[in-house]
Amino acid sequence: MRRKMVVGNWKMHGSIKENKALLDEVTAGVRELHNADFVVCAPYPYIAQMQSLLQGTNVAWGAQNLCSTKDGAMTGAVAPCMLADFGCTHVIVGHSERRNLFHETDDTAAARFTVAQEVGLPPIFCMGESREERDSDWTEYIVGRQLDSIIRRFGPQVLAHAVLAYEPLWAVGTGPDATPEEAQDVHQFLRQRIARCDADIAAKVRILYGGSVTPANASQLFAMPDIDGGLVGRASLTAKDFVPICQAAN
Ligand code: PEP
Repeated sequence: MRRKMVVGNWKMHGSIKENKALLDEVTAGVRELHNADFVVCAPYPYIAQMQSLLQGTNVAWGAQNLCSTKDGAMTGAVAPCMLADFGCTHVIVGHSERRNLFHETDDTAAARFTVAQEVGLPPIFCMGESREERDSDWTEYIVGRQLDSIIRRFGPQVLAHAVLAYEPLWAVGTGPDATPEEAQDVHQFLRQRIARCDADIAAKVRILYGGSVTPANASQLFAMPDIDGGLVGRASLTAKDFVPICQAAN
């Protein structure tokens, strides 16, 4: 049985004051929830604050991106071991906003995926199709290609220490959300594709759904057999939304 997981992606939101208030409420709200894993991914400058506020709680913290190089002359970049130094347990890789706004490709995402694993930081690897791609029936081709960009390079075994996230671009940020059935179809497709290479890893790897998850749709989404939790953007910015989503996963 796969343990459910909820990951909050704060994107470029927050301040020292707001983060403290939010995390106080979130940690109080999930304190008694022991049947799922909770992670919050903050902007880089706040990772030290997360470490000091979340240590000893059942909420872990992570980052939203990382450099694919371990160290060196890379002005403005953050190395994987720096994230590990500050206690990050996960890092998001290949988010659609990174792919679209910052020109990340399958190749650069794969490079980040591998350096994250090298420092023991499980990547949360994002895949998803655009509205146009879905309307043209290309969903399986697109997410299959994105998944293969990892499996072909590193073999299916690398997924044993990773988390996957299906995030249809048309559902990220502004909604509408995918229906539980639409999401389940893609999650099942991804799991079956992994199973062709390694059935054991396919059965174990967690595949999160992301795209306008809210307290209103979380329970139905998480009840689907291949949906193992959520990657949550907007609704992770308030405890009144994030805590009920964590409860639904629990
Ligand atoms: C995300 O940022 O990964 C995301 C899914 O955002 P939202 O929940 O706001 O759609």
